[in-house]
Amino acid sequence: METKIIDGTGLARQVREEWRERARALAGRGCRPGLAVLIVGDDPASKAYVRNKVRACAELGLRSDHIELPAATSEDELLARIAGLNADPGIHGVLVQLPLPKHIASERVIEAIAPEKDVDGFHPLNVGLLATGHPRFAPCTPAGIMLMLEREGIDPWGQNAVILGASNIVGKPMALLLLQRGATVTLCNSKTRDLAAHTRAADILIAAVGRPNLVTGGMVKPGAVVIDVGINRLPDGKLAGDVDTRSVMGVASRVTPVPGGVGPMTVTMLVVNAVLAAERACADEAKTEDRER
Ligand code: NAP
Repeated sequence: METKIIDGTGLARQVREEWRERARALAGRGCRPGLAVLIVGDDPASKAYVRNKVRACAELGLRSDHIELPAATSEDELLARIAGLNADPGIHGVLVQLPLPKHIASERVIEAIAPEKDVDGFHPLNVGLLATGHPRFAPCTPAGIMLMLEREGIDPWGQNAVILGASNIVGKPMALLLLQRGATVTLCNSKTRDLAAHTRAADILIAAVGRPNLVTGGMVKPGAVVIDVGINRLPDGKLAGDVDTRSVMGVASRVTPVPGGVGPMTVTMLVVNAVLAAERACADEAKTEDRER
């Protein structure tokens, strides 16, 4: 079987092109979408992610406020900055780059973001909306994967979808989105017995663990679609996913590369969510003005 490598970079470029128009239309109505990205400390990987996010915003003509705070910033100081951004009408999306330094409770910080500005979709209210089938903001990585499947003409309806990794930011929301699209979902974690027995039953296999080469060709059902979310830095400095791509070639029907697969779609969905947040905020503003007239 010939295995197609899905071009996440090209697809992301195409999606951004489509959303650039929506962002421009909003700006033309006096509502330029604005995203604030806060980072605490100077973790190099987090800084690189933030740079990519800010660059993607600029590419679509969004206002992006990049706020860098020192590692010693207190939780109260961070909460005060978030309160300021919640109240700023020019900012429609607020994102706090995770992980945060240990002295700051991430849950408190996430809960402090106004749910209508929570473009990462991590606020418990947005998690609840997603779980009940009415997502306001789907978390960016799973949302990017869903769009990737759609654009590749892959319909999850009735398919066995197996997800490796059950984190709040990838695995769990991925399971919910696939379930809502009619897939039969298996969500594996570090305690799962006989992982290969599960993966071999997958029509759609999503690896989001953070272990290089966890998935090998022998674990993949012939013809399956393999989505590699993992980003692992190898001792030689190169990036690798969770899938041993070489060994799944000829077995899977499609596979995403690392880099250049899920990563660019994740960043793109953040910008999409920021534009959506601005569209909703400006529509609400227009309704209020109509009522006051
Ligand atoms: P995480 O919070 O560390 O969660 C890892 C999950 O994998 C946990 O649920 C863990 O199980 C499970 N796990 C560990 N060993 C396993 C095994 N042998 N078999 C099956 N499951 C196992 O990780 P994360 O934040 O979701 O990220 C996962 C990977 O995706 C990382 O490499 C990260 O860098 C990458 N990532 C990429 C993007 C992107 O845009 N491409 C975005 C986000 C994350 P327990 O629940 O039992 O601990």
